[in-house]
Amino acid sequence: MNSTSLIKPVLNGVYPVISHGKGVFLYDKDGKDYLDASSGAVTANIGHGVEEINQAMLEQAEKVSFVYRSQFTSDAAEKLADKLALLIKGKLQWSFFVNSGSEATETALKIAIQYWQEKGQPRKNRIISRWMSYHGITLGALSMSGHPLRRERFTSLLESYPSIPAPYCYRCPLQLEPGTCGLACANELEVSILRIGADNIAAFIAEPVIGAAGAAIVPPDGYFQKLKQICEKYDILFIADEVMTGMGRTGKVLASEHWGVEPDIVTLGKGMSGGYSPIAAAIVTEKVLEPIMNGSKSIMGGHTFSANPLSCAVSLAVLDYLDTNDMVEKAEKSGKILGELLSKIGEEFSFIGDVRGKGMLYGIEFVMDKKTKKPFPIQMDVTNKIIKQGMEHGLIVYPAAAGEEGITGAAVIIAPPLTIRPAELIELGHRWRKTLQVFKDTAGLG
Ligand code: PMP
Repeated sequence: MNSTSLIKPVLNGVYPVISHGKGVFLYDKDGKDYLDASSGAVTANIGHGVEEINQAMLEQAEKVSFVYRSQFTSDAAEKLADKLALLIKGKLQWSFFVNSGSEATETALKIAIQYWQEKGQPRKNRIISRWMSYHGITLGALSMSGHPLRRERFTSLLESYPSIPAPYCYRCPLQLEPGTCGLACANELEVSILRIGADNIAAFIAEPVIGAAGAAIVPPDGYFQKLKQICEKYDILFIADEVMTGMGRTGKVLASEHWGVEPDIVTLGKGMSGGYSPIAAAIVTEKVLEPIMNGSKSIMGGHTFSANPLSCAVSLAVLDYLDTNDMVEKAEKSGKILGELLSKIGEEFSFIGDVRGKGMLYGIEFVMDKKTKKPFPIQMDVTNKIIKQGMEHGLIVYPAAAGEEGITGAAVIIAPPLTIRPAELIELGHRWRKTLQVFKDTAGLG
């Protein structure tokens, strides 16, 4: 049995069969076009079929595609590490390459634990995270994730890491009013640390803008500054999971820059290669690396494919493309247009409760009633129905929350490639309006 026959009975007929992609469009084998308004899983940040990337891939493949990371390094890996250090600036200068976002956060978790071991504090090995978060599907990463649906089947295998409420102002988990809440959700970090004891905690992890578990939830100003202060006060590392937000998606190289906060460890994935080849990274400061280099001399992590020259060359070409085309600045500008467009459409439909986001990462939350914010019953499967309507109308949007009872309403993410042109943004708007209109009619909403 080959891999195709394993996939075939399950997926054939469920998903369209892809033929090729160009720019913001994907084409299936029947010639139908799809505007990739979610960049896949918020990944294809520079769009599809970019010639420079294909060229870089070919050039590297002709030299060498694979060497093992503890036997050789490569020009591609070295240059990529330099490029990341250059783009990110500041103290985050040391990259450890892996192959997926889950591996990156799992590696960050292990680096944090190892850091404290090397400093003679092995009891500092717990990680605090937040509800409404997604850090990956492997067991360590899932243990840190506040994503009930993805945790459910594996709960008994997961570490019982402590978690604090998310800054979800649309439905404040602490039932407070934004603006007068005193950032109580950030203060919960201190409460949690005091309860567990700073001597038992290695790190706090957070996505700067919450993605898959909440649909582009942007924290209020001051929130991350407060969290960082608390981490410093209690000597706890701050990990920013920028797998979704990193490399320009929100209009800054790292989304943490919006709040002037520098993490001790940052994780990247998705946009790092724009999906052209699997690669991700955990990037650390000198402070984090030093005790490890003075102690065991290497990070206890890594995978067979880590830092393979092919993916490194592809990622380097994608970062060069972002850089030479000023894509980060452009993302900020296009993001404003996208935000205005989505908000305008949001006003036209009574079942759109919230349109939120930053840069080119937007979330749309659906409600039964705009005023009461009453979510749709989970059985209505609103997120999937809208996604399906989108596909019918040649528009790809990403499921962010299934509408988990008591936690979120149904929601999707809209996050097109940063390279999207003005006319394509207008087309996105047309297809989104049509999708919503047909959903409204078929669901019998007034
Ligand atoms: N962290 C964040 C913030 C993510 O959005 C994701 C993927 N949605 C991951 C980690 C896991 O990445 P991957 O799917 O590449 O393992």
